[in-house]
Amino acid sequence: MTDLKKLIITATDSHVLSEAQIIDILKDDSINDFLFSAADEVREKYVGNEVHLRGLIEFSNICKCSCKYCGIRKENTLVQRYRMTEEKIFALAQKAKEYGYKTIVLQSGEDSFFSKEKMVSIIKKIKDMGFALTLSIGEKTYEEYKEYKDAGADRYLLRIETTDKNLYQKMHPDMSFENRIRCLKDLKKLGYETGTGCLVGLPEQSIESLAHDILFFKELDADMIGLGPFIPAPDTPLETEDGGTLTMALKVMALTRLLLPDINIPATTAMETLDPDGRLKALQSGANVVMPNITDEECKHKYTIYPGKAGLNNTADEYNRSIMLKIKNRGRIIASGFGFRFRNL
Ligand code: SAH
Repeated sequence: MTDLKKLIITATDSHVLSEAQIIDILKDDSINDFLFSAADEVREKYVGNEVHLRGLIEFSNICKCSCKYCGIRKENTLVQRYRMTEEKIFALAQKAKEYGYKTIVLQSGEDSFFSKEKMVSIIKKIKDMGFALTLSIGEKTYEEYKEYKDAGADRYLLRIETTDKNLYQKMHPDMSFENRIRCLKDLKKLGYETGTGCLVGLPEQSIESLAHDILFFKELDADMIGLGPFIPAPDTPLETEDGGTLTMALKVMALTRLLLPDINIPATTAMETLDPDGRLKALQSGANVVMPNITDEECKHKYTIYPGKAGLNNTADEYNRSIMLKIKNRGRIIASGFGFRFRNL
């Protein structure tokens, strides 16, 4: 057996790898299948065969940020902007209830129309419907995060995007790396199940920095990690750049599962966008969560963070039926609980 395979086997027990070891694994493509199976075993041992379905509502594509990779960045005047009414959000959540989903994920651009008061009222109503609630609405103050938590929000997703500070500043000219870190620390402090993650394959992103991203997830003690390949979006400064690959995104995800065995890891839409089987491959390489998009037809076509998003041509009903079938066909179980992180280490 090669040294790298031995290293992977040791990590399935110790959940420790050095930065140099992670880099070696990321650079060698001959051990990919071995790595994916190891992550699949760790996933089964620590979080079981259940797959948690979280209904994603993209409730506004209005954004004040200029993230260079993102198709809904504020400079992009070609995007038809929308904002859902509260009634529409609740009607979509009701649908999720009918599908049996236990969690609602509310995601949006950084849209200040949704003030603290408006968000608190939406959060309370979704909680009254009996859901666990994840927010993915960007950078806020400690006080705002606290009010959302007090109103009942359970989880928060805020990807660090990259831990390479120089690259971070280039990608986010109007934001600061320090503030991103501050947000993640505040979320942890406030007791949110905190999700972060990175883009894989950004221009100028090094393998070394991806290894650093993985170690950052462990250092933060993240409860969820969402990863996806960077997909160049039209009408952004990066439209002509090369995108990331599914393989590299899966490798970063599998290594994350080895090091953080009991966390929740979604098989992301960006993975399925690059390969129709991308989500299933992810579910067999360490992932245990799927976030079906339940945004209505009209709005979801306008939430164009990148092109060709998987699921755009299916209604939520169709997507729900097909994903449930695929999960069951792979011998996995649709979870019936809320799917909070159960510390198991
Ligand atoms: N405003 C929220 C939600 C952002 S959209 C926030 O700041 O957290 C959710 C994720 O989509 C981002 O965190 C980013 O990692 C991803 N994303 C954006 N543009 C992308 C692209 N072109 N390719 C792949 N993923 C992208």
